[in-house]
Formats: sequence, C-alpha cells, structure tokens
Amino acid sequence: NRAIVCIVGRPNVGKSTLFNKIVGKRIAITEDKPGVTRDRIYAEGEWLNRHFTVIDTGGLEPDNEDMIMSNIKRQAQIAIDTADVILFVVDGLEGLNTTDKEVGEILRKSGKEVILACNKIDTPKNPDEIYEFYELGFGEPMVISAEQGLGIGDLLDEIIEHF
Ligand code: GDP
Ligand code: MG
Repeated sequence: NRAIVCIVGRPNVGKSTLFNKIVGKRIAITEDKPGVTRDRIYAEGEWLNRHFTVIDTGGLEPDNEDMIMSNIKRQAQIAIDTADVILFVVDGLEGLNTTDKEVGEILRKSGKEVILACNKIDTPKNPDEIYEFYELGFGEPMVISAEQGLGIGDLLDEIIEHF
C-alpha cells in the first residue's frame, strides 16, 4: 500500500501551495454546489522513486472565525486516522498562535509521526522567528518557502524517511 502524507495547518499558512509544489501541478479546488465543502484533495507524489499519496486536508476552508477551530480539529482527526506521516504547516511570517498550539497538542497526543514545516521563509537565511515554533514540541522546524520552492527537497527527503 502506498504511504499517505497529510498536510495539516490553519487556513492561509500555505498548505495548498505546498501541496501543489509536491505533486507538481495545480489542482483546482472548486465548490460544486452551495453549502458543499470538498474537504480533502488527493494526488500522487513522487520523490527519489518513492511514490506516495498526498492529501491536502484543508480543501475549502471556512472564513468564519467561529468555524475555523472546529474545521481544523476535524482536519487533524482525518490526518491522524489516515496518514503515515503528518505534515504540520505553520506560518513563519505570522508566527505561532493559539490555533497552532491547539492543533499541535492534538497531533502530539496522537503519537503519529509529525514533520513540522515553517513556511513563508522566502529568504535563504533563517530569521530568529522560527525558534518560537520549538514550543510546539516537534523539534526543529523544517524551514520552507512553498511559493519560492525553497527547502522542498530537504522536506521530501525527510518525508520519505518516515515510510
Ligand atoms: P492554505 O489556506 O493553507 O491552503 O494556504 P494557501 O496555499 O492558499 O496560501 C495562502 C496564501 O499564502 C496565498 O496568498 C499564498 O500565495 C501565500 N503563500 C503560500 N506559500 C507562501 C510562501 O512560501 N511565501 C509567501 N510569502 N507566501 C506564501
Ligand atoms: Mg488551501
């Protein structure tokens, strides 16, 4: 069976950008009908001849503040139930917030393999801000820029180590 990688994180951290980068194409997320949320997007990924399934658990995310926490908890649970390795994405420009901490807590308690990726670091030199993410308890964050394509090779190396 093909290994499954689930991307989890709060809205706007760059999950879909990273997903598209990993699968090498743009997969459009569109809502078919009003009120219907397509909450998982699947595609095949490949790195160094290792094939795996990547799931963007975000899909279409609520913009309503009240819905964000319940939605992300559901996403985290989907990831815990289906993933071999969870890619937990945080926003290195915005920094750590309480939603990150709550999601991190759920993921940590699950005992699943989690790789923490600190996204939106668009420069080669790591800013001091990345150190606050150690607090989440997943060790050193992998620093990436999904948009610029920085750190993606190292991240994929780490992902396939977990299969
Ligand atoms: P999602 O809601 O977690 O799926 O996040 P998206 O992939 O939709 O990205 C949210 C916003 O962050 C978009 O405007 C992206 O262009 C931007 N973004 C994503 N990755 C990066 C990055 O590496 N650097 C910067 N500066 N912006 C990014
Ligand atoms: Mg998205």
